[in-house]
Amino acid sequence: MNPRLILIPLLLSAAVIRAAGALAQDKGSVDPKPLPPLANPNDPKLGAKELFGRKVLPAAMPTRVIGFYAKGCIAGAEALPINGDTWQVMRLSRNRNWAHPDMVALLERLSAKAHKDAGWPGILIGDMSQPRGGPMLTGHASHQVGLDADIWLTPMPNRRLSRNEREEMSAVMMVRPDRLDVDPKVWTPGHLAVIRDAAQEPSVQRIFVNAAIKKALCREAKGDRSWLSKVRPMYGHDYHFHMRIKCPAGSSECQSQPEPAASEGCSADDLAYWFKDSVLHPKPPTTPPKPKPPITLAQLPAACRQVLAAPDAKQ
Ligand SMILES: [Zn+2]
Repeated sequence: MNPRLILIPLLLSAAVIRAAGALAQDKGSVDPKPLPPLANPNDPKLGAKELFGRKVLPAAMPTRVIGFYAKGCIAGAEALPINGDTWQVMRLSRNRNWAHPDMVALLERLSAKAHKDAGWPGILIGDMSQPRGGPMLTGHASHQVGLDADIWLTPMPNRRLSRNEREEMSAVMMVRPDRLDVDPKVWTPGHLAVIRDAAQEPSVQRIFVNAAIKKALCREAKGDRSWLSKVRPMYGHDYHFHMRIKCPAGSSECQSQPEPAASEGCSADDLAYWFKDSVLHPKPPTTPPKPKPPITLAQLPAACRQVLAAPDAKQ
């Protein structure tokens, strides 16, 4: 068989996973090249990701969350420092360690809790948002408004990682090759503790993990289990988990999401969909799907135009 025919479905399923934001452990580059200037930045068909992807600093505006997790932007974002006592930021070349100040404070607090509760030296932080949020050139439909963050399911090593290591190091796959459960060789009570710590934070609204991880949490959580309702199965998310916070108080332009149902989501019925053969091993489509046109600036909330046009914030 022509090897290209095998490659196409692989690429397609990679695209599906990418859309789910699962590739937060894609390698970066220690020496990122600046993006070339746009030939026609006012082209109405231009993807907004081209414009937001070229902003290296936040807008010099007061903090504003504008729009929805998967269609919006943020002004006045703050950077999570790349090193803390109990955290380190990965893939520095991506410049995605920006978020609402509430998210930055939460990650710092959560890292200390994880250190204490899981016994990890600390946590590794993957993608947050771009300096002005907005759609990204690679990965992630969401992460657009500074209220989403990816946390690696790999403990922080007990030393400062080099810039190179932060680009090259891979997270650990937590799910067994048959995709039906976590891999007992790598899954530990510490992983449960870190996810529980995140889910118990009042500002956290949803956490996305692979269904096999949700299954393990359902089986292993002791004591108060109410936090399980916030932990939702999602494609991918087998190297990292995704933490989403609610619209911060006073963010009138932030479009909220309904609260997840109060149930633990641990019944066989709740998980059945995710373990269906067609979901675990999706058949490649017979005709390749048309690539979706990217979100344009006109499709984002109007205030995002102001955010793009604003001068750089002073650092
Ligand atoms: Zn994510």
